[in-house]
Amino acid sequence: MIKDGFNRVHNYLRISMTDNCNLRCFYCMPEEDYTFTPQAKLMQAEEIEAIAKIFVSQGVDKIRLTGGEPLVRKDAGDIIRRLSKLPVNLTLTTNATRLHEFADLLEECGVRSLNISLDTLDKDKFQLMTRRDQFDRVHDNIRMMIDRGFHVKVNVVVMKGLNDGEIVDFIEWTKKDPVHVRFIEFMPFSGNRWANDKLITWHQIMEVASGSFDVLPLEHIKHETVKKYIVPGHQGTFAVISTMSAPFCSDCNRMRLTADGKMKNCLFSKSESDLLTAYRNGEDILPLIHGNVAAKASQLGGQFTAVPDHVHAEDIQNRSMIAIGG
Ligand code: SAM
Ligand code: SF4
Repeated sequence: MIKDGFNRVHNYLRISMTDNCNLRCFYCMPEEDYTFTPQAKLMQAEEIEAIAKIFVSQGVDKIRLTGGEPLVRKDAGDIIRRLSKLPVNLTLTTNATRLHEFADLLEECGVRSLNISLDTLDKDKFQLMTRRDQFDRVHDNIRMMIDRGFHVKVNVVVMKGLNDGEIVDFIEWTKKDPVHVRFIEFMPFSGNRWANDKLITWHQIMEVASGSFDVLPLEHIKHETVKKYIVPGHQGTFAVISTMSAPFCSDCNRMRLTADGKMKNCLFSKSESDLLTAYRNGEDILPLIHGNVAAKASQLGGQFTAVPDHVHAEDIQNRSMIAIGG
């Protein structure tokens, strides 16, 4: 069992498969030119499998693959196949651009739930936010996965003046489709020009939602990072990930592995443990894993508190989101 100093048991590992991506979401990629990590420095498929098995031997029973865009990696299928043989609930976060190539494989491998990012229902705004013309592809692929019966959660990073006018439209979508929309508060990472005045908080989102719908809260499930709601009569649900205004750190069970094999005990942790180098040197990585989690801060990587007015993004030491793995 992997436990931190606050008695939180950690059974959920998020593995970044790559820091490469075929979209360029400005809140995720750093402002300056970003150089993707060369292939040799990334964990190889067999290394991901071997390291994942060590985590599983310590009680990990849920693994999420992420990135960057996990499905741009050439051996993505091989990695998904390998991990699907482990006794874990395997899930994936993706921008959906390649799902048409992977739907069969995901089904074969028992992946039934997907987190898909889509910040806008407007084609032009999609191009503005991702700097790529992939709206139709993403839209069609989401439709296809819903029709194939996957449990589809749609991640929407809400930003003031950009897509906050679409909150009602996204909730409206849950009426006709069993889709689970998750509004995410904009978070600060290296180079993403976070500013408090771009943040739309959980309370603001709920104000908009309640202005247009009768909203009922759903029961909170332990370890979930969302505050969930339903509009009676709708097939889907919506939720808010309120990391900035009301974080869910007190029962956190998550650990992260970056694509270059560094372990982070929190999305906002300053320190990292280099599991890949140790593994390549033939060292036992268990002490590194347990030591990393033992040093976990009580909340938000110990770098700020949930008072957005007091957050100084420039003082937060971290990677960019694309290099961590969201
Ligand atoms: N490429 C995949 C995707 O877009 O779903 C997986 C990686 S992406 C980094 C994972 C999630 O992080 C996405 O839902 C994305 O919207 C979210 N994300 C990235 N930067 C963020 C930020 N600054 N604040 C909040 N969420 C962010
Ligand atoms: Fe790529 Fe996902 Fe980041 Fe967008 S949010 S740049 S799709 S990794």
